[in-house]
Amino acid sequence: MSNPTLGLVGVGKIARDQHLPSIAETARFDLAALVSPEGVTLPGVPTFRSQAEMLAALPDLDAVAICTPPGVRHGLTVEALRAGKHALIEKPPAATVSELHDLAGEAERAGRTLFTAWHSQFNPAVDATRALLAGGGIRSVAVTWREDVRRWHPGQDWIFAAGGFGVFDPGINALSILTRILPVPVFVQAAELLVPENRDTPIEARLDFRPASDAVSGPVTAHFDFLQLGEQTWSIVVEMADGRRLDLTRGGASLAVDGVVTVAEPDTEYRRIYRHFRDLIDRGVSDVDATPLHLIADAYSVGRRRSVAAFDW
Ligand code: NAP
Repeated sequence: MSNPTLGLVGVGKIARDQHLPSIAETARFDLAALVSPEGVTLPGVPTFRSQAEMLAALPDLDAVAICTPPGVRHGLTVEALRAGKHALIEKPPAATVSELHDLAGEAERAGRTLFTAWHSQFNPAVDATRALLAGGGIRSVAVTWREDVRRWHPGQDWIFAAGGFGVFDPGINALSILTRILPVPVFVQAAELLVPENRDTPIEARLDFRPASDAVSGPVTAHFDFLQLGEQTWSIVVEMADGRRLDLTRGGASLAVDGVVTVAEPDTEYRRIYRHFRDLIDRGVSDVDATPLHLIADAYSVGRRRSVAAFDW
């Protein structure tokens, strides 16, 4: 069976760092086109200035991977699904919860695959942690996601504009892991959102969660910070009622139990994502997980906002 053809929409940092190498390495799709408003090119692959141009020029294209900022994702995904294409969408999958639910309906009506690619979930250490927590007996969970926005998102003004998620852009990765590893749902009980006086979205956030059952007996917290210099931290620490401590670090890539590393994988998230996307298409199903986006919306609902010092690159 020949590979489905794929158009990559939005050729920015993540498309170059991860999508293009993963498409090439996994060989589950044939890269047929790029969509790049600024005209990024790749030898042997046509570039279009808009998705609409690509869809008109390549009516037989099978699938798209939408790697734009989230603000334009809903419109582009609807356009692609209505043109009969399967769609992989980067995280956050849409700017709002309503948009994401609409996309799920559009995919169903079109009979096409929609895949919300929460890349951090595609780590073996995340699956291993989920298995260890399946029986409950969890005393506390502390999420710490502290990174330097100037290093990881240089000049990306969209991230600080309304709909750009601010520090929740990486923070939602942590929530995609949290909601995957815990055996019960959690609800946002309180949140503090620190927003630079010259921007729209938070640069730091603290969230307190209430677990849905006593499978988690103590606090569940998250701290997201975009101004971390020096060591960068993407970790989740779980304390178990039996005294064990689980350290899920490197954004979900490594797991240590009581200080002994049990899983440490190289970065293969995006390879797994493309294999999964192909598998979904072959099986004729979608994979849509709205839970992390719900928690961000809930943080905005119950959160207190504080204005902090202006941010400039
Ligand atoms: P980025 O570097 O700003 O790239 C976004 C790209 O989307 C730009 O090349 C932009 O092209 C293009 N674009 C914007 N509107 C478009 C449209 N209507 N049609 C086609 N292309 C359009 O951002 P990024 O860091 O790659 O992030 C993109 C998404 O991936 C975000 O949702 C982010 O959360 C997610 N992500 C990022 C990372 C990371 O490490 N950066 C990791 C995982 C996931 P122009 O510049 O020509 O407008």
